Amino acid sequence: MKKRTVANITKSEHLDMGGTKVKQPLPTRKVEQVDPFLLLHHFGPTTVAPGTDPLGVGPHPHRGFEPVTFLYSGGIRHKDSRGNEGILGGGDVQWMTAGRGIIHSERASREFLEAGGTMEGIQLWVNLPKEHKMAQPAYQDIKAAQIPEIVEDDGKVRLRLVAGGYKGKRGPAYTFTPILALQAAFAAGGYAELEIPEHFNALLYILHGEAQLNGNFSYQEETMLHFRDDGEGITLRAAADTQALLLAGMPIGEPVAQWGPYVMNTQTEIMEAMRDYQMGKMGVYVE
Ligand code: MN
Repeated sequence: MKKRTVANITKSEHLDMGGTKVKQPLPTRKVEQVDPFLLLHHFGPTTVAPGTDPLGVGPHPHRGFEPVTFLYSGGIRHKDSRGNEGILGGGDVQWMTAGRGIIHSERASREFLEAGGTMEGIQLWVNLPKEHKMAQPAYQDIKAAQIPEIVEDDGKVRLRLVAGGYKGKRGPAYTFTPILALQAAFAAGGYAELEIPEHFNALLYILHGEAQLNGNFSYQEETMLHFRDDGEGITLRAAADTQALLLAGMPIGEPVAQWGPYVMNTQTEIMEAMRDYQMGKMGVYVE
């Protein structure tokens, strides 16, 4: 396998978003986006006593892209302006299409609040092409058990296929543009060759642990590696128990106009989004 080389290495910036601590490897000053991936937030792991919400994000709007939540542990209660309500548990994924507009909140679930525990996850913003930015809002609630697992290296490597095709299997998430999303868990010493489709932009985010890339340098947790489109994939050998997320997608290649929670193609469309939100066109959120 011809290996892809590294274009950029970014360390997560630590941000405090109204009491919620998040690590942000994308965007950074150096890497604005890895088209179609716009933003990656790693929240937690935060361990709390009963009664504390380590997440607690109140109602806010989105338009023009897809916010995706990979919950590694904990419990989240999601509620939106279209009357949807859902609970995510450890291992679950929520693939939301904000499309023309949605207002939602993301808070600890009642069960988590009662028991306390550890909350950890990733929120990823996947851009939508112009023709689908105003799609009907929707969300795919993907339970852990629906995600196919590919086991390699005698069980030392477990790949959970959330989106796209991989080694004859298909991930459950529907996406508007071709995307591969693989949650990779390595036991210390585990080795895998990860294939990446040609012409897909690709990044690897290491949540925990340490892994040697392509038999060469090693990278530690909270690092994002962005690859060039110059090979068929990458190899990883874990130096410790390691959790990583491989994201690859066909680039959209359109202008990006972003302001806060809206991602459109032009500034005019951003102004329209702000106005539509104020006029109640994204629905009304009822607590
Ligand atoms: Mn949100």
